[in-house]
Amino acid sequence: MSIQTLISQATTPSSPFDTDSFNQVVMSTYARFPIALERGAGCRVWDTQGREYLDFVAGIATCALGHAHPALIEAVTQQVQKLHHVSNLYYIPEQGELAKWIVQHSCANRVFFCNSGAEANEAAIKLARKYAHTVQQIEKPIILTAHDSFHGRTLATITATGQPKYQKNFEPLMPCFHYVPYNDIEAVEVAISELDEGDYRVGAILIEPLQGEGGVRPGDIAYFQKLRQICDETGVLLIFDEVQVGMGRTGKLWGYECLGVEPDIFTSAKALGGGIPIGAMMSKSFCDVFQPGEHASTFGGNPFVCGVALTVCQTLEQENILQNVEERGEQLRVGLQAIAAKYPNHISEVRGWGLINGMVLNAQIALTAADVVKAGIDEGLLLVPAGPKVIRFVPPLIVTEKEVEEALQAVDRAMASVTKE
Ligand SMILES: *Cc1c(COP(=O)(O)O)cnc(C)c1O
Repeated sequence: MSIQTLISQATTPSSPFDTDSFNQVVMSTYARFPIALERGAGCRVWDTQGREYLDFVAGIATCALGHAHPALIEAVTQQVQKLHHVSNLYYIPEQGELAKWIVQHSCANRVFFCNSGAEANEAAIKLARKYAHTVQQIEKPIILTAHDSFHGRTLATITATGQPKYQKNFEPLMPCFHYVPYNDIEAVEVAISELDEGDYRVGAILIEPLQGEGGVRPGDIAYFQKLRQICDETGVLLIFDEVQVGMGRTGKLWGYECLGVEPDIFTSAKALGGGIPIGAMMSKSFCDVFQPGEHASTFGGNPFVCGVALTVCQTLEQENILQNVEERGEQLRVGLQAIAAKYPNHISEVRGWGLINGMVLNAQIALTAADVVKAGIDEGLLLVPAGPKVIRFVPPLIVTEKEVEEALQAVDRAMASVTKE
């Protein structure tokens, strides 16, 4: 079924979604925007009242192929009809195929599959700790992470996340994490030398090539190249969290390609399954020190998710989607810069790579990213904040020139509405 056919299949608008009864039974971990989405096709979604939105969130940088992509529908349907779950007690051909694709298309030699970004980072943290104990000979290995980073919501990954707001009230945190400012090489050098004391020593650095949740902040090429050099000289492992920027989001398949350095270990999740829950931790062979029984996941790498993720990977290649990401990303940034020039008192910067971009609001004014996102919803455009002052643009990677143009017009209208006297 083509996307055009799906778009034309209108549903009957129902009464407003009952948010009160929803909130009575679902834990209140999310401050949700007051719409309920029930259908999607391509870069568009419809709410329960039949209202159409252009989706520049894509399930938070996840639905790389958009909604109801024919290849995704076919992969999901076929794999469920064949076999969906068996556990890792047995060999899973689809898991092997997906791992082979990742290894052939990255600097990694080995893959471990799990179900989410946080779990992928947990696996990387465990691997780094075992490597420290068995190879680096560190009794108490310290992992360096960056201020304003985001690595997930499990206890180890909130500890790794350099933002106190995610840690508050969940103490005690995991020991042996230390934070340094992002893009500041001197801070890393100081930390590595000062934290080398007794049983303690830095064993690994866990860092995002571009900070996503922390405000769409790209990594400096010079900083990352120096990081690589320091890690080579000291034997510290370099781990990249590619959960948000990997799988083509930046216009390159992996974020590290934008920086010209290879990590020793990296993680992926969000876009890997195009919206099907899957996470993965990749490593070079020299640091794959796991033995059977040391790490595991019941669902991880099952035939269903791996079959679907492999289709997502192959579709990225076959439809030449990375080129679209570069072109549409450039178009979007140029358009956003023109809007920023219209509102110089409100917008201070536009930044990003490929199709992960942030529009930064002036720190001196009261206007928040959430205000602009709400105004966007009123204009039929879905956006997501990245921190209090940055509006993030992460559309499906298949977004068209016309859709980017349409989104820019909606942003312009949203800015006009939030800035009017
Ligand atoms: C979203 C995200 C995570 C967490 O992924 P989950 O699937 O929500 O656990 C980790 N790291 C980065 C960089 C992310 O953007």
